[in-house]
Amino acid sequence: MQKSIFIIDIDNTIAETWPTLVDRKIPLVLNYLKLKPKRNVVSKIYDLIKQEDSSVEVLFLSARTYYYKPVTRFWLRFVLGFKLNYQTILVDRANDKVDYLKRYLSEGYSIKYFDDLSYNHENGEIKYYQEVINFANSNSDIEYYDYAWIKQFS
Ligand SMILES: [Mg+2]
Repeated sequence: MQKSIFIIDIDNTIAETWPTLVDRKIPLVLNYLKLKPKRNVVSKIYDLIKQEDSSVEVLFLSARTYYYKPVTRFWLRFVLGFKLNYQTILVDRANDKVDYLKRYLSEGYSIKYFDDLSYNHENGEIKYYQEVINFANSNSDIEYYDYAWIKQFS
């Protein structure tokens, strides 16, 4: 049976990062701690996870500086209630996510990938990490849940 993994972005996917992080008056670590979750998106993803075989894996893949990993894990555990049997990988740039998608594909996984892959909200014009989006959309072993999918539950 094909191995299956949920790969889930955090900022603007399951967290209301924008506009919270525009508040530069407090340290970023506190901003990350008090991020509001997108409860509807999270429960939709929970539902999809529950439909899978119990061997399904969950990976949170987010573009954040690595030393925010403890606060990121804390938020996922205590704000969202995710159990500790998941992995968290922080990458420097959103485009680095392609390397992880490729790695799981090469290990024979089918991937459900949840990621807004958007930026520049604070300037009033949303831009997208098109390179990653194109990769996700062009691969038949990746089911990509994009900005529009997330937005309908937000
Ligand atoms: Mg994001």
